Parts: sequence; structure tokens; C-alpha cells
Amino acid sequence: MTEKEKIKKSTTEEYMLPLMESFYTLQGEGAHQGRAAWFIRLGGCDVGCVWCDVKESWDAAAHPHKTVKEIVQEAVAYPGRLAVVTGGEPLMHNLDELTVRLHEAGFETNIETSGAHPLSGQWDWICFSPKKFKAPHPGIYDRANELKVVVFNKSDFAWAEEHAKKVSPNCELYLQPEWDKMDKMLPEIIEYIKSNPKWRISLQVHKFMNIP
Ligand code: SF4
Repeated sequence: MTEKEKIKKSTTEEYMLPLMESFYTLQGEGAHQGRAAWFIRLGGCDVGCVWCDVKESWDAAAHPHKTVKEIVQEAVAYPGRLAVVTGGEPLMHNLDELTVRLHEAGFETNIETSGAHPLSGQWDWICFSPKKFKAPHPGIYDRANELKVVVFNKSDFAWAEEHAKKVSPNCELYLQPEWDKMDKMLPEIIEYIKSNPKWRISLQVHKFMNIP
């Protein structure tokens, strides 16, 4: 069976997705920071960020394909009912069935995406984190609940503003220092937000707490 066939819904088989890992932890960043959440990290990403901290996610074929039913069954074993679908770039896959099944099991569904592929799935919260390495699909801007821009250098502020102009007025705006540039960029971000208070800061607090 080809890779495409494996991830395609068939009439005889359950829909399958490449699952890199799934785990119960606290959401460390963005608008839902601090909440207990079941993370579903799907394999596959064609965005190619130079500073990516999950490069092992890029090759979808390197990860076992699991049925959506299996993925959701694992999640219900824990008391939290927030599911965060991330990657890789999760929108490389059709996520309609996964989100329907998560909703049926009582989960809120959050996604973290670069927006580089068309949106699928039923989402309670869309965290849109655009990347310079692959342009977002235009359909994401109206749908994003949260724009989270990773700041690697000072030129990223202007780039963040370009995206902020395109999202809906209700979209929450976050600037997050790239982890390895924290020392250099954190003071810059603090000053930028003080001058531009529509933005908030997002820190990857799970990394400070040494949890996944
Ligand atoms: S979009 Fe995410 S997973 Fe893909 S390369 Fe960039 S940081 Fe890594």
C-alpha cells in the first residue's frame, strides 16, 4: 500500500493517521497555556523551519499509522478533555474524522498549525503559527482564533504585523521567543509589546517545567 493510500479513508477500513506520539501534559504556550491536555502529534511536515525542534516529525512514513478510533481511545483514559492536535504540520492530513470522534468523546479540539495546507476538521480553537519557510493557505486567516508568531530576530516583528493585518478582529495575538534565541529576543519582545499592546507574550513554559 502506498503512503497516500494508507492515510486515505477507504470504505472498508478505519481512517488512519501517522501518529508520532501522544501524551498527557500541560499546554505550555499560547492562549490555553496551563491547561491539562492530551497532545496528538501527527507525523509529516513539508514546511522546513530551520529552527524546528521536532524535525523527526517531518517524515510521515517514519511513524506508525493508527486508526482514529485507536487515537481517541488512548485519549479517553485520562481525565482532561482538551485535545491538542499538533505536528509536524497536522493539516497535511484530513482531520475531519479525528475531530468528529474527539467531539463525540467529549473533547474540546484545538489545533496548532502553520496554515500551510487547507483547513480540515471541526475545531474549537485554531492556533495559527505562520512560518516564513512556506506561505500559509489564505483560508486560515478568517478562521484563526490565535495568531502566534515565533520571533527569531527583530525583522520578525514587521512580519508578525503583516499577518496581524489579515486575521479577524477577534483573533488573539501572541509573540513567542524562539527557544534558543530567548536571551536575545525576550527583552526585545517585552519592549515591543509595551509599545504595541494588542500583542501578548507567549512563553514555552513546558520547557521551563521540563515536561513534554
Ligand atoms: S511547521 Fe512546525 S513541525 Fe514543521 S518544520 Fe516548522 S516548526 Fe517544525
